[in-house]
Amino acid sequence: MTKTNKKQTVDLRVLPEFSRAAVVRRFGEPLKIECVPVPSGPEPGALIVRTTACSICGTDVHLARGNLALKVDLPVILGHEMVGKIVAIGAGAERDSVGQPLSIGDRILWTHTACGSCYWCTVARQPTLCENRRAYMYENIEKPPYLLGGFSEYGYVLPQSGRVRVPDNVEDAVASLCSCAFRSVMNAFDNLGPIDPSEHVAIQGAGPLGILASAVARVEGARTVSVIGAPHARLELAKEFGATHTFTIEGTTHDERAAALRVLTSGRGPDIVMEFTGFPGAFNEGIDLVRKGGRYLTVGQLGTGTTTFSPSTIVKKNIRVLGSFSGDVKSYWKALQFASTHGDHIPFGRMISGRYTLDEVNTALARMQRLEEIKPLIVMS
Ligand SMILES: [Zn+2]
Ligand SMILES: [Zn+2]
Repeated sequence: MTKTNKKQTVDLRVLPEFSRAAVVRRFGEPLKIECVPVPSGPEPGALIVRTTACSICGTDVHLARGNLALKVDLPVILGHEMVGKIVAIGAGAERDSVGQPLSIGDRILWTHTACGSCYWCTVARQPTLCENRRAYMYENIEKPPYLLGGFSEYGYVLPQSGRVRVPDNVEDAVASLCSCAFRSVMNAFDNLGPIDPSEHVAIQGAGPLGILASAVARVEGARTVSVIGAPHARLELAKEFGATHTFTIEGTTHDERAAALRVLTSGRGPDIVMEFTGFPGAFNEGIDLVRKGGRYLTVGQLGTGTTTFSPSTIVKKNIRVLGSFSGDVKSYWKALQFASTHGDHIPFGRMISGRYTLDEVNTALARMQRLEEIKPLIVMS
């Protein structure tokens, strides 16, 4: 039965004492499936969800190996690209961040937190830079509310997390893509600004973000969309998503690729170049590729690597260089709307390269690390 009172709505049938979850206790060791406490109910503004699916991101692999430059309060539940069904609604949490009503059983995505009362949240209006930000999969499972990670049967949505209801026609696998990969792409396009139909776009990287970006660039009306990356299968998938041209990095030099792109763009180079590779050296290549007066946007660089480049290139070419980090609730909503609207002609589901149970999480992570997967999915229920 569902019990409603002034304080909270909880489906008492489904809230257990513990949630099975994949936990990182020590970096570099396999994850262990542990029983983590489920809070007895959500605090005001919070939600408790039954996780339905959680896809694996490159960041998960880096965190498990201890290769992230960010603070991780071990032990943590790994996973941050999750979608869940609401099982408990805290007081005042009856609507999502765009005003849609939320009920028990609705599927949602939710964001890392933003406090709403710091300089970054209010004046700069860039909540992903919030100085009080709390992020999923970085917090200790021994402190309430315990369930702040995706590879877990149950999840806890913090009061200060944005949350968006998933449209009915977006399946769990695609919704989970929208939580990290796709929202980062949507945030990147927001930072980039509008694309004119006369403009050529080049995308560095044929991973999930690069492939999703090729779809958005095409729908936004870019004249051509070129994806530079590897391997062949991913470039082929990029074409199905909307890339008009692809350039492999296997067996080709940067100069050869740059020459081919100039042929495609009346000798000028792409008007817009977007970077989703994670390789520091791609930055140098990107600012070399973009046409004079064009826009270069980098998204993939989150590691500690460095590169050398000639700053005068930026000056002499008069280009705009932009960065884009993560994405706030607007980007999650935009990603879901895009998937809902264009799911009939863009094969989002094909990006999910493998499906695993929670108990198979170590296998999935190892395959991801060996680049044998584009986007593996842990299916919870
Ligand atoms: Zn991610
Ligand atoms: Zn803030």
